[in-house]
Amino acid sequence: MHVTFLGAARTVAGSCYVVQSEGLRFAVDCGLHQGNRAIELRNWDEGNVYRPQEIDFILLTHAHVDHCGLLPRLVRRGFAGPVYTTAPSRDLVEILLEDSAHIQEMEARWRSMKKQRSGGLPEPPLYTVEDAQAAVRQLRVVAYGEEFSPAPRVRVVFRDAGHILGSAFLEIWVQEGPRETKLVFSGDLGRTNQLLVPDPWVIDAADFLFLESTYGNRDHKNEATSRDELAEAIQYSYRHGEKVIIPSFAVERTQELLYSLYLLAKEGRLPADMPVFLDSPLAIKATKIYREHTRFYDADAQAILAAGEDPLAVPGLRLAQSVEESRAINEYRGPAIVIAGSGMANAGRIKHHLRHNIWRPGAAVVFVGFQAQGTPGRRIVDGAQTIRLLGENLAVRARVFTIGGFSGHAGRSQLLQWLGHFRSRQMEVYLIHGEYSAQQELAQVISERFGYAVHIPDYLDECTLEVGGAFQLTSRQKLAPRIDWEFLLDEVQGKLGQVHERIRYLEQLEATSQVEIRGSILDIHSKLLEILSELRAAEPTPLQDK
Ligand SMILES: [Zn+2]
Ligand SMILES: [Zn+2]
Repeated sequence: MHVTFLGAARTVAGSCYVVQSEGLRFAVDCGLHQGNRAIELRNWDEGNVYRPQEIDFILLTHAHVDHCGLLPRLVRRGFAGPVYTTAPSRDLVEILLEDSAHIQEMEARWRSMKKQRSGGLPEPPLYTVEDAQAAVRQLRVVAYGEEFSPAPRVRVVFRDAGHILGSAFLEIWVQEGPRETKLVFSGDLGRTNQLLVPDPWVIDAADFLFLESTYGNRDHKNEATSRDELAEAIQYSYRHGEKVIIPSFAVERTQELLYSLYLLAKEGRLPADMPVFLDSPLAIKATKIYREHTRFYDADAQAILAAGEDPLAVPGLRLAQSVEESRAINEYRGPAIVIAGSGMANAGRIKHHLRHNIWRPGAAVVFVGFQAQGTPGRRIVDGAQTIRLLGENLAVRARVFTIGGFSGHAGRSQLLQWLGHFRSRQMEVYLIHGEYSAQQELAQVISERFGYAVHIPDYLDECTLEVGGAFQLTSRQKLAPRIDWEFLLDEVQGKLGQVHERIRYLEQLEATSQVEIRGSILDIHSKLLEILSELRAAEPTPLQDK
């Protein structure tokens, strides 16, 4: 038996692991690759590494598009098998895939217009709304804790991963001759004491564990005080008569925020004259789905329901569906709270709210989720003095709050705690769904503390899974560009920008230091000139370029 890593290997997006055993071929998750252009090219599967027609079935851990967003593409290209997932996931996948398909269609239209203007051919979307609907028809609902058999030699159990409503980690047993091998895929593991969803279930055995590592190198700071921090942000902007802007993911994070605001209102910490705008049609739909699946809530939320209340019903909540309703929020004067997508401020309506508010002293911007490298959210969290949004340079004068306790991911200690329940001595651990530096740190701690063999697979790696056998990397396909130029150049550019922002400090340094730094920068400059002249030499002449 072997496994191929088709995504979320040394990065967080594009989760997809294909397991092959004696003619059987199935996938765990099938996520959209997101990040930069080079990574997003993987979605088009030029090298046909997914081979959709040969996939027997797919097991889906949860509804986030980095885990299910490529399903419509696979269906479009011939995958006809069932996709197993939980009931809340089924409903959430439906709205998230449709939303994703709309974005794909819009982007394709935009690219096509640009191409046609320069005499080229129109470009098809990655997939259409129709493809998304076809994919949804292939979803099959399974219950937590109930074993089922998607193929003759395979048994599967979904367990609550406590990450978002309906999220699961998977126990998979594969029979090969007399031997049965157990694989466990963690999916995304939730935090303990997360609002709305229960704590992740624990198990004690696996031969091969595929463990997410998003927060492999750190814990969330001040988890227990996140509601207080949110109250502080609200207080701050309320005092100044300004808005609190919260970039938020439509699913789970938004519902947790609503729940927190409901609790703050109960505690008298949400001013009655401070309305809450939920400016996201997708988040509004997701909230409706949450309300339809309350039996998956944790005990605290169940208790509120039993008392005849709704933990997602915030007093003063206003829903903005249309673009006009969204725009009207900018006209609203006085303190208010605005929740909008996307969660990393790299798309969606949040960009407009940031443009209207981030430069205003007294306003607050509250980050409640993971901010990936290269996103505006990450730059703001990292302390950028100015930020470029919608073609404008904006000064960051609002107070920035980064609240760790709303994360949907287990922090490092919680990952280790969850891992501590395993009793299998020979278990091998594969770290997935994390940035490489975080994974290296986590790998070291795991091997030191538990003695397990830990591997950090790369994109397209194929590994043999043989209990007691030596680690075998059977192939590392060379289909993708190994050097991520976009990312690298973005990084260098960002650093240069940071130096630029500090010119006035540079000017205050002693003359000798200034001369030294000037020398270093001239070195960089001359290296860049060398690179450019090499590239210019390699450029095709206009005649050769068709
Ligand atoms: Zn997730
Ligand atoms: Zn994920």
